[in-house]
Amino acid sequence: MYTTTLVGRFSQARFLISAAAPAQFPADCGAEVAFVGRSNAGKSSAINALTERKSLARTSKTPGRTRLLNFFELGPLQRLVDLPGYGYASGPAAERQTWRPLIEALSTRRSLRGLFMIVDARRGLMEGDEALLNWAGPNVPLHVLLSKVDKLTRTEGAQAFSSARTALGDRASVQLFSAVTKTGLEEAQRLLQVWLTS
Ligand code: GDP
Repeated sequence: MYTTTLVGRFSQARFLISAAAPAQFPADCGAEVAFVGRSNAGKSSAINALTERKSLARTSKTPGRTRLLNFFELGPLQRLVDLPGYGYASGPAAERQTWRPLIEALSTRRSLRGLFMIVDARRGLMEGDEALLNWAGPNVPLHVLLSKVDKLTRTEGAQAFSSARTALGDRASVQLFSAVTKTGLEEAQRLLQVWLTS
């Protein structure tokens, strides 16, 4: 049922605005879902797969936009927020300074319905990922996509899933995902849709 209803669901998706600071965020009405992830975790690929738009998230990778929050409109008053990748050279202190205010500002918005975190399934959750989830506060629903699962065997995938479940407890839901083989795509699309219409 969902397969047919979801196909082309986000075909109207379009880039809205790049924001360097909360003051530039779009008006806080409607619903939005944020995407975070360590650089190279597969966030852009996941966004493109979920929205069924081959290069939507490429916008976020264009020079000048990589350090900004990029807002996309998926439907009327439905937005996707692509946060910059983290985990590169800056180190934990700098990271805390950059990330914490961004996540906290987002999480106070009435529109925010949830946060998708993209985590490379081969690496699993790392310290910075957990801190970031905590900054979102207890009231923001969290969902972790263990990405690139096509690079793991079935057993390794099951182990990655189980470790993440244990680490996250009831703070976040988690699933296996691959933008290449589309493993878990429907499940993730369904949640995105539910959050955007809630
Ligand atoms: P981002 O930096 O988190 O936005 O990551 P990208 O989406 O740009 O992906 C980083 C690298 O991982 C690229 O070379 C992608 O082709 C690759 N990648 C992303 N998702 C998958 C996946 O599901 N499977 C495989 N095998 N490679 C992936």
